Amino acid sequence: MTFDDLNLAPAILKAVREQGYENPTPIQAQAIPAVLEGHDLLAGAQTGTGKTAAFTLPVLHKLSMSRSATNRTGGVGVRALVLTPTRELAAQVEESVRDYGKYLQLSSAVIFGGVGMNPQIATLKRGVDILVATPGRLLDLQQQGHLDLSSVQILILDEADRMLDMGFIHDVKKVLALVPREKQSLLFSATFSDEIRDLANTLLKNPQSIQV
Ligand code: AMP
Repeated sequence: MTFDDLNLAPAILKAVREQGYENPTPIQAQAIPAVLEGHDLLAGAQTGTGKTAAFTLPVLHKLSMSRSATNRTGGVGVRALVLTPTRELAAQVEESVRDYGKYLQLSSAVIFGGVGMNPQIATLKRGVDILVATPGRLLDLQQQGHLDLSSVQILILDEADRMLDMGFIHDVKKVLALVPREKQSLLFSATFSDEIRDLANTLLKNPQSIQV
């Protein structure tokens, strides 16, 4: 299988080629068609397997094919929300979004704690298509009235097991209550405890399961 077999937009394939990737990794070959078809996904994958591109590429494709949303301040409505356990991972994921989406007209931002809120507030006011965030800061901004998640169409939980290990289960559940019920959800985890399975059962509808 090559990237050309995956039905991704030419602008995405161009960016992928520029990354020097020749063929999709196993998680990409399985996840990309499933996400493009609109399935929820339960994916078991460690870091280093190419899991970031496995969700980023089809999400970029889907958003590039549909109309942008508007938030309540007249800015761009968030259509894809990625939750990650750490600020480092959030920054890496958003960098991948920018790399793979460089030839698309989509906007993205990253939100995490430990830094000033004002630039993040300004960014949220303008709005973005794709938001990558750690759960705590995301909730702080939401509770202060700076974040509208009512236009989210795709939700991704990245490294869900680490998110739970770090004690974010309540925050994650609060975020789940803020996004529309009708959406596509993708859960990536390296390990599967009972707690992860419970979360997956709450969130995912008829998911396709992938294990690499
Ligand atoms: P990840 O598992 O998402 O952290 O990705 C691990 C590394 O693999 C990153 O440095 C990616 O740039 C790289 N990578 C992702 N997909 C591919 C691919 N199809 N071919 C070669 N390298 C890749």
